[in-house]
Amino acid sequence: MTERSLTDWQQLASSLSLPHQAYLGGQFCDAAGGATFTAENPATGESLVAVAACQAEDVDRAVTIARDTFNAGTWRDLPPTERKAYLLRWAQLIEQHTDEIALLETLETGKPISQTTSVDIPGLIGGLRYYAEALDKLYGETAPNGPSSVCMIDREPVGVVAAVVPWNYPLIIAGWKIGPALGAGNSLILKPAEQSSLATLKVAALAAEAGIPDGAFQVVTGLGHEAGEALGRHMDVDAVGFTGSTEIGKRFLAYSAESNMKRVGLECGGKSPHIVTRDVEDLDKIAMYVAYGVWYNQGQTCHAGTRLIVDREVKEALLERLESWADKLAPGDPLDPANQIGAMIEQPQLEKVQHYLAEGQREGARLRFGGERVHRDSGGYYLTPAVLDDVSNDMRVAREEIFGPVLVVLTVDSLDEAITIANDTDYGLGAAIWTDKLSDGHRAAKALRAGTVWVNCYDHTSINAPFGGFKQSGQGRDKSLHAFDKYTELKTTWIEI
Ligand code: NAD
Repeated sequence: MTERSLTDWQQLASSLSLPHQAYLGGQFCDAAGGATFTAENPATGESLVAVAACQAEDVDRAVTIARDTFNAGTWRDLPPTERKAYLLRWAQLIEQHTDEIALLETLETGKPISQTTSVDIPGLIGGLRYYAEALDKLYGETAPNGPSSVCMIDREPVGVVAAVVPWNYPLIIAGWKIGPALGAGNSLILKPAEQSSLATLKVAALAAEAGIPDGAFQVVTGLGHEAGEALGRHMDVDAVGFTGSTEIGKRFLAYSAESNMKRVGLECGGKSPHIVTRDVEDLDKIAMYVAYGVWYNQGQTCHAGTRLIVDREVKEALLERLESWADKLAPGDPLDPANQIGAMIEQPQLEKVQHYLAEGQREGARLRFGGERVHRDSGGYYLTPAVLDDVSNDMRVAREEIFGPVLVVLTVDSLDEAITIANDTDYGLGAAIWTDKLSDGHRAAKALRAGTVWVNCYDHTSINAPFGGFKQSGQGRDKSLHAFDKYTELKTTWIEI
């Protein structure tokens, strides 16, 4: 990362060109009917640019191009070493443009520049490199069936894949789909969330520069119920890789059932429990993990540790420390490299969180601190980190995904009680436990019903570790080599000798 000051970033922002056209068949173009939607800067509430709002006819066009490309074999039939080389070239170009892409993402999402430069863009690059490197190292299998036959098992790309992604980590999550789906030889159509199209379009321009064939990778910008639904219902899309809310994830299952039974991979919402037992020494360290685990990215993280399930004996000492972390993590101008917390994504999301804070108090929870709208004069959507105490697990604030900087506190007297409450949820994305007792750590790790369990840490992550959810947090896994399962078919070939 180049070291830049707030003024440097502001200057760069004022001279930046804002990509706003869809990327279809290797060309940047408007939606056929000319429709647009407005991209907004959450840090100021100001409009950034009118972006192409693709409709069903644009989606049709993208799918036809994708299918033709797949059938022509210009991408899928390249030897894996060549697809790998293209992806690595693309990753390198993205790296060279880190500041510009990070700035676009910061402008459209309100996410601090300190993080888009150090986490989000490197996350995309790392994802592309990981899958690129894997492509020529994945072998098929042979099934042992006696001396007179050869039974080969190979992976083939499914065909045309649509990746529909959210705004909270738009490029990292796009990378989790692009890497395995495009890498495996599919034609990929990426639909970014309407709140976060700009940085994605810059990345698309670099795909062209890297020589990724026209039609192998396309970006359909647009609204969810228009472009997203058209992809979900399309009869010639073979698979969807979706990340977003559980509500819309369920719709993709319905779209599939009502169209061509396309394969649907789902990474959806969460309400992850963060257990702190009484058998812990280092509350300072735990407070830091709890604070970042819930308030990072303005609380807009699918696996945020939103339910603190804490033993009565250590609760007050932990909450005191959390209050000082809330001060350190006060939100501010995302363009200021000193800030770690920026603006929430948009006014309706801010209002939704404020509504939950009020609803929680109406149900009997106590607001210990935070939840205040600040920097109103900027026009942006800033909310201070909040803690709701005296929460019981049947309250709406304990059951529903708030998707903002709100920690709810559930007080317990034993590990068994903590595990029961932790598992009493519709979701199962992440879960964590802090304990100095080895056997309790193991016991909880086995008992917790979640795709990822952290013991004495939170949010440890790596591209080589599978990520996804139990229950209504999703189906299938992103990241790691397991992600290829979503975008490939297994083919069995019998040869009689
Ligand atoms: P969202 O479900 O509103 O939107 C996600 C994507 O779906 C966007 O591209 C959107 O345009 C599209 N979409 C919206 N309505 C649609 C419709 N009717 N038909 C087809 N497509 C439609 O989610 P969001 O607000 O962008 O993101 C926040 C949600 O994503 C949270 O619930 C969060 O937990 C979840 N999420 C999950 C993971 C994970 O890996 N499990 C990661 C990040 C975010």
